[in-house]
Amino acid sequence: MKIGKFSFGIGDRFGHQGKAQLSALIKAKGAGIDIIPVWNKSNREHGIVGTSPEDVRQEADESVSNLEWKGEYYVDADHINLSNVDPYIEHSNFFTIDVADYISEPADPNKKNLFLEHNKKYIGDLRIPGISKTYRITEELLSEIADKYLFATQKASEIYQHIAHKKGEGKFIPEVSMDEVEEPQSPVELFFILGALAKEELPLQTIAPKFTGRFNKGVDYEGDLSQFEQEFEEDLLVIDFAIKEFGLPGNLKLSVHSGSDKFSIYPVIGRLIKKYDKGIHVKTAGTTWLEEIIGLAAAEGEALALAKKIYRTAFEKQEALCAPYAAVIDIHPGELPSPDTVDAWNGVKYADTLRHIPGHPDYNANFRQLIHVGYKVASDLGDEYYRNLEKYAEIIGQNVEENIFDRHIKRLFNL
Ligand SMILES: [Zn+2]
Repeated sequence: MKIGKFSFGIGDRFGHQGKAQLSALIKAKGAGIDIIPVWNKSNREHGIVGTSPEDVRQEADESVSNLEWKGEYYVDADHINLSNVDPYIEHSNFFTIDVADYISEPADPNKKNLFLEHNKKYIGDLRIPGISKTYRITEELLSEIADKYLFATQKASEIYQHIAHKKGEGKFIPEVSMDEVEEPQSPVELFFILGALAKEELPLQTIAPKFTGRFNKGVDYEGDLSQFEQEFEEDLLVIDFAIKEFGLPGNLKLSVHSGSDKFSIYPVIGRLIKKYDKGIHVKTAGTTWLEEIIGLAAAEGEALALAKKIYRTAFEKQEALCAPYAAVIDIHPGELPSPDTVDAWNGVKYADTLRHIPGHPDYNANFRQLIHVGYKVASDLGDEYYRNLEKYAEIIGQNVEENIFDRHIKRLFNL
């Protein structure tokens, strides 16, 4: 099983938008870009929404058969580890092996010595084809990289072997993710991480490093765009070199866990993957659920009233809702409208405040981020929420499709 060149991770918290998401990719196909859908859902989300890995598989299969999608598609066990992967094994065929928690844990001294021995030949000036600068590799640097990442690569391999043993080698796409950390991995660190993963015989097809800058949930990128561009370009060339040097799968590509809506880096990524003819996996994560709220608001009447109720509850519970996401959101409480103010809005005003149109006078990133982390509120409403999703499926579906195609795919592929 080998994943194709372009793929999108499409999260869908409540599992009702599979067809609308897929129809955005069908639209892209019509515009000449083949993008593989990957339905992803993390363990944390399953826990909060009360769904199971089997539900995601069912949603994917149903959407694909309903819309007669003939291409490949995947179901991603997102950010799993050894303690929670088992319920996913039967239903998933893409595994995001998350080893962020193991970074900086000490590796076995013998393993570290082996790592230093294997990489001794790179000491000196390392040149990577296509990159004009040289990397100065010293024994100290190798030792530091080992102390930071070697244990994590061994854990990745342990999790991979566990899945492969149960599911069968070659029956799934392995990804390794290290993105949920504060400190980014540099291109040279990425090179040696890939080498260590190859030594562990983990045939990874996608890798999700932490890139420079802030990737807050559901809002745009914050950081130094030119530094991002330079490192992203180096990462692409490092991967190319690592494939040849370490014998990793030829389709190995970068995976950008975007947290959604990184509009300002999309054109940079798009330009560079075009320049080097590379693939990419982009997780657009959970903003599909925000399109549900936008659709409900735009439907006015009882649906708008429900959207307002969700905001009021999220506003009241903001501390608890934000806590698990503290590292990936940035809300200024003083810029949140009061629930009484929101209650006076019409559907257009509510939708325009929530919808991510950079520069739109009504767009409020604080409002958007709070609702984004507030999906537990909708989940707690249970049937009341699901009933409305079904009743207003058409207007919601239009918003979901437009979001993925117009705001994500068009920017990434310069359509
Ligand atoms: Zn991630």
